[in-house]
Amino acid sequence: MNIHEYQAKELLKSYGVSVPVGSVAYSDAQAEQAAEEIGGERWVVKAQIHAGGRGKAGGVKVVNSLEDVRKTADAMIGTRLVTHQTGPEGSVVQRVWIEQASDIRHEYYLGFVIDRGTQRITIIASSEGGMDIEDVAKTSPDKIVKEVIDPAIGLRDFQCRKVATAIGLKGKLMPQAVKLMKAIYRCMRDKDALQAEINPLALVNTGEGEKLMVLDAKFNFDDNGLYRQKQITELRDLAEEDPKEVEASGHGLNYIALDGNIGCIVNGAGLAMASLDAITLHGGRPANFLDVGGGASPEKVTNACRIVLQDPNVKCILVNIFAGINRCDWIAQGLIQACNSLQIQVPLIVRLAGTNVEEGRKILAESGLSFITAENLDAAAAKAVATVKG
Ligand code: ADP
Ligand code: MG
Repeated sequence: MNIHEYQAKELLKSYGVSVPVGSVAYSDAQAEQAAEEIGGERWVVKAQIHAGGRGKAGGVKVVNSLEDVRKTADAMIGTRLVTHQTGPEGSVVQRVWIEQASDIRHEYYLGFVIDRGTQRITIIASSEGGMDIEDVAKTSPDKIVKEVIDPAIGLRDFQCRKVATAIGLKGKLMPQAVKLMKAIYRCMRDKDALQAEINPLALVNTGEGEKLMVLDAKFNFDDNGLYRQKQITELRDLAEEDPKEVEASGHGLNYIALDGNIGCIVNGAGLAMASLDAITLHGGRPANFLDVGGGASPEKVTNACRIVLQDPNVKCILVNIFAGINRCDWIAQGLIQACNSLQIQVPLIVRLAGTNVEEGRKILAESGLSFITAENLDAAAAKAVATVKG
């Protein structure tokens, strides 16, 4: 689960991390009022969407008057912001974050990610942070440093100093950097975060000296930990998620939208992955990943069909069931129920195997509906691809 920049900043603030003073606004009038309360003469109006790259797409604007705060907020709210991270469809801006503009001296990059190889939280940092970090990774990877954290020991001060030194922080900034890194690590561990990205971590001139400040923060949390993270769960913004995925999770279905045209309904995540592979191998493109799980009732199968069909690109549905805990007769009943109640127009390619398979096949055959059946996964994928290719 992702959260907005402003939520991440509020979370970090509660861990003692320095962030600019700011306020969230859902309308231009609120934005102006927020800026007035924040005070000062320069503000930043920042579109809140679950994607980065906003700066380059016009979603981050520095303004010098209350009137411009209002105008900028008005222009942003309700518009679709397309950044290199949103995909071409973009994301609608529902709220903006107004914060004090900082006098930036330098921008650093500081990320905490889980390295799947070492299975450990790893710090990734660079002296060259800011909006071109992707280019730094491509053209000068030597400017990026890594530090692996041992979960049994936790993040040690010397490791923070090592990272800070490598990105050019020294003197009075060293203790600030150590405190900041340890706070982010603690926050990540406490909240079951998978990723925390600070870009930029800025060296800011405050008038009373230089200070490290978090100017942008992205957090991603482990969905499997949300049951014990009430505070984080409350930050969920369903408007930022695919409505089909939201609906699916409400029905206990694991659905992920993809960009092809062959809808998939499969039991088991592994078999679902294999089905996507088989479709791709035959030259087709899956429209989604969907795991109906074990013990799928006819209702669950109907829900799965409905969600898959909400995607207008779907030209056929591949149903691939290897029933262990599941029962093929239930799946068959569910498919018939779905065909009747949803008036499905697209062809259904069905592969059934396992528990009560004979019964399941009989139910389909006697239904009077035109299912395309297949003996195994490979044949089913080939038939699905042939169907969409006409
Ligand atoms: P994104 O990563 O989505 O482009 P950021 O929040 O990182 O958005 O903002 C983009 C750039 O805008 C930053 O790299 C920084 O230069 C500038 N910026 C962001 N927040 C502030 C701020 N409070 N004061 C001054 N400049 C800012
Ligand atoms: Mg950023």
